[in-house]
Amino acid sequence: MKPIRITAIRPTTVSVPLEAPLRHANGCHWGRFVRTIVEVDTDAGITGLGEMGGGGESAEAAIRALERYLVGTSPFDLERQRFMIANPTASLYNNRTQMLAAIEFACIDIMGKALGVPAYQLFGGKLRDAVPFASYLFFRYPDAAGANEVRTAEQLVAHARALKARHGFTSHKLKGGVFPPAYELACYRALADALPGDSFRYDPNCALPLEDAVRFGRAIADINNDYLEDPTWGLNGNRQVRAATGLRIATNTVVVNFEQLASNIRDHAVDVVLLDTTFWGGIRPCIKAAGVCETMQIGIAVHSSGELGVQLATMLHLGAVLPNLTYSADAHYHQLTDDVIAGGKMRYTGGAIRVPDGPGLGVALDRDKLAEYAALYGTLGGYPYDQDPGRPGWAPITPNTAWADPDDARRPDLTVA
Ligand code: MG
Repeated sequence: MKPIRITAIRPTTVSVPLEAPLRHANGCHWGRFVRTIVEVDTDAGITGLGEMGGGGESAEAAIRALERYLVGTSPFDLERQRFMIANPTASLYNNRTQMLAAIEFACIDIMGKALGVPAYQLFGGKLRDAVPFASYLFFRYPDAAGANEVRTAEQLVAHARALKARHGFTSHKLKGGVFPPAYELACYRALADALPGDSFRYDPNCALPLEDAVRFGRAIADINNDYLEDPTWGLNGNRQVRAATGLRIATNTVVVNFEQLASNIRDHAVDVVLLDTTFWGGIRPCIKAAGVCETMQIGIAVHSSGELGVQLATMLHLGAVLPNLTYSADAHYHQLTDDVIAGGKMRYTGGAIRVPDGPGLGVALDRDKLAEYAALYGTLGGYPYDQDPGRPGWAPITPNTAWADPDDARRPDLTVA
């Protein structure tokens, strides 16, 4: 095979609507996702697809600036690429891990297309044909038409039941840290009561003070929990929650690189490492980390930092090749109204999504959709992930101690039924 060289890198920012604004401890997804689709061209006429969170002029400029490193190099040289654009020491200054991930996705797509094999074949072959997912449940503001709100336990249970009926989920993740812990505890327990036999996970994005996290953990001991995810901040805080509750603790915040993984092995704090193909800098580092976890008997799952179809494909190929994938994956995907990939949104069957079998990542862009949602980004622009449209001027603090103080302006509105 003739050597292949990268010739250009083309980012496109898109905005794809969500069913409703999704609330979380640190702000909100304001009714849409902003993502950057990264296309990497080669002299072989093959284009690879990558994806990254966020976008806009400066993000696109930063991605285009990688051309000076990568044009003329081989898309097969992934290990060299890592040191060229995200050397661990230089990363203190240039912070390019997430861009490296988008480039890695595209290069793996190119490799698979050049060889005529699906991406999972490059990683040793798939061990499963479909990857199981948990339903990802959020407290939601109403949409523009006043529908789709999730605020009360009744609304949450109805939402979970509808998702289960539609997609077949048997595990459910509640994103919390929005309302006071006692309120969210009641919601979580209502979910478990409503869906007997299913499993559950709760993730307040590190917002709970340590004491609240322990109290919450002790109060859910009788539930079929997959794990408690980032109940409080940091390895040291979560180690204490683990010791005090005996629950399995998961994280996507404080074990996101090999240094932190090593720390967690030397002084055990979390039991389940949630592998994010973007946060870890690509599919390959996630596979490497999963190998360490397999050896050390640490649990893993596939994490979602928000995805359209290209990123979802990276999660599926990752999930397909991991022998030790004992928990269902997370995806925001079912909250989206549409996608930019050809054929429309991927479908869930029995709570799982089939791993694409086409060459590379196995997904193609729908050019009309890409143009439509690039235009929507042009109209709406970005949104601050760490601000909440329902609470102007509010800023999150961690741990969130505002819940205890009724006069604190950061206390969420609790005018609930
Ligand atoms: Mg999380």
